[in-house]
Amino acid sequence: MELIANDEVLQQVRDVGKGYIYNDYVGNGANGRQVNILHAANCSTLGTADTKKPKYRADDVQGIIDWLIDNRPMNWKICGTCKLCPSVTRQLTL
Ligand SMILES: [Zn+2]
Repeated sequence: MELIANDEVLQQVRDVGKGYIYNDYVGNGANGRQVNILHAANCSTLGTADTKKPKYRADDVQGIIDWLIDNRPMNWKICGTCKLCPSVTRQLTL
């Protein structure tokens, strides 16, 4: 899990389209469960995203999930558009 440094890097991650992007929109703030969203890197809804709000990338979704459980407990969600893959969704709901 690594902070995406700037908009150029974000675009590169999206162009490659592999791995995952977590949008840490409000961190531990209120409403994170609606706006802190974990996406597949190729998600169409990231088309207007920028790095004014912190975003993180990872190749391995398990690393992100472990981090979210420890650092954003019950304050994030999985994207409803890309939905990642069924095995990931299953892990997330355990
Ligand atoms: Zn998405």
